[in-house]
Amino acid sequence: MYIIQVASECAPVIKAGGLGDVIYGLSRELELRGHCVEIVLPMYDCMRYDQIWGIHDAYQDLWVPWHGGAIHCSVYCGWVHGRLCFFIEPHSGDNFFHRGHYYGALDDHMRFAFFSKAAIEFIHRSNKRPDIIHCHDWQTGLIPVMLYEMYKFHGMANQRVIYTIHNFKHQGIAGANILWATGLNNDAYYYQYDKLQDNFNPGAINFMKAGIVYANYVNTVSPHHAWEARFSDISCGLGHTLEMHQHKFGGILNGLDYEVWNPAKDQCIPAHYTVETFAEKAKNKKALRERLLLKDCDKPLICFIGRLDDQKGVHLVHHSIYYSLGQDCQFVLLGSATDGQINNWFWHEKQHLNNNPDAHLELGFNEELSRLIYAGADMIVVPSNYEPCGLTQMIGLRYGTVPIVRGVGGLVNTVFDWDYDQEHTPEERNGFVFYQPDAQALESALSRAIALYKNQPQTFQQLAIQGMECDYSWKNPGEQYASVYEYVRHK
Ligand code: ADP
Repeated sequence: MYIIQVASECAPVIKAGGLGDVIYGLSRELELRGHCVEIVLPMYDCMRYDQIWGIHDAYQDLWVPWHGGAIHCSVYCGWVHGRLCFFIEPHSGDNFFHRGHYYGALDDHMRFAFFSKAAIEFIHRSNKRPDIIHCHDWQTGLIPVMLYEMYKFHGMANQRVIYTIHNFKHQGIAGANILWATGLNNDAYYYQYDKLQDNFNPGAINFMKAGIVYANYVNTVSPHHAWEARFSDISCGLGHTLEMHQHKFGGILNGLDYEVWNPAKDQCIPAHYTVETFAEKAKNKKALRERLLLKDCDKPLICFIGRLDDQKGVHLVHHSIYYSLGQDCQFVLLGSATDGQINNWFWHEKQHLNNNPDAHLELGFNEELSRLIYAGADMIVVPSNYEPCGLTQMIGLRYGTVPIVRGVGGLVNTVFDWDYDQEHTPEERNGFVFYQPDAQALESALSRAIALYKNQPQTFQQLAIQGMECDYSWKNPGEQYASVYEYVRHK
């Protein structure tokens, strides 16, 4: 099959979080299975150009209809670690992708509506006729609408769309001006409950709802989160829409790229290791301590890596730092916050803990350091409020770092409690799970993990090795996506 991924991220050239990893890993897996995959992305000024090989002009004269006129765009093409990517650069005073950051501008709706329009116009003009256009998150939710309401009548009647929701929190809620800008125009037609109208704000359209209504198949990124999305308030108002489209909605667990995340080869860690050479992991712990000026001792080292955001349970992240220190452990945090208050809070904590030989807080985005932490830490905490899939626990497992997670979303599908899990054999268990979003619940799981580390080190090591033996690669999810593509292709 010929598949085009359209997304706002692709690791490592554009990565703000897990979405970037998923676009890269899924595309690689599909190519290994013999499919032809191309990726269409915005050309941001702040992306990592050093990660693109052989960039060149692919299409110079793309005129994207916009607000009744047209914006001239250039499309560049290059390889990102073997994946063929197309980058769209508009030449207009709006400077849509020259903002110094990927997200968070006041006109994000316009920026990504434009990207969606430009992506489908590019596919159309360059005579690409993929079997599947795979769109991701709110940024590309309008693509299936444009395909089925406009482009279908211009030679694109055979294309099918898959829409994957990575995070329900950001849905893209905007006004009618988006319809006029993209040429969809007919607002009376789109402002209907069964079309694009937001379920709670009748004066607005909802990009994510548009994707759900128009795509041939919709999924979120784990089976448990798909269940939560339909039967709890986690889908932020889209539950009824999912119910109406349940026949084409499901959950497919994200994979992890086992080539990119591999402790036996990782270029950013000093000591490589596998299940057989697990003892080498200790050298990475030593290197991590040296790098962060932590005391060399026999305490367990616990970490958190991720966005410092309400979603990630920042209060519990904060609590886990002090609880771990109180239990005679070391703690390393690597995180970045876009919210000013959360950012100030953690900068304050960083200063507070500055001279503590058992704690280090690194605030910012640092892929290289993240790898050394995954390899050097003994445990990783993931106390999320909600978690569509979560990659950090999977990376932790891959690196023999025992996850301590809250039982929500994809964490339920990937981490099985050492003491209490009823559905998996003791050999399949790989971490610690708590459920209530409060300090006591977190403490109960953390204290069990710490006690096992201190009192039964051999058993703890066995648990870490069992985690490394889990298979969360793209093998199974790749197969599932391929069969979904095959299914919708013939519809
Ligand atoms: P989300 O997509 O919600 O941010 P995921 O757990 O799905 O969370 O994916 C997070 C990805 O981003 C992982 O690859 C993780 O290692 C990486 N990451 C998150 N924060 C940082 C950071 N501050 N520095 C480096 N990598 C980070």
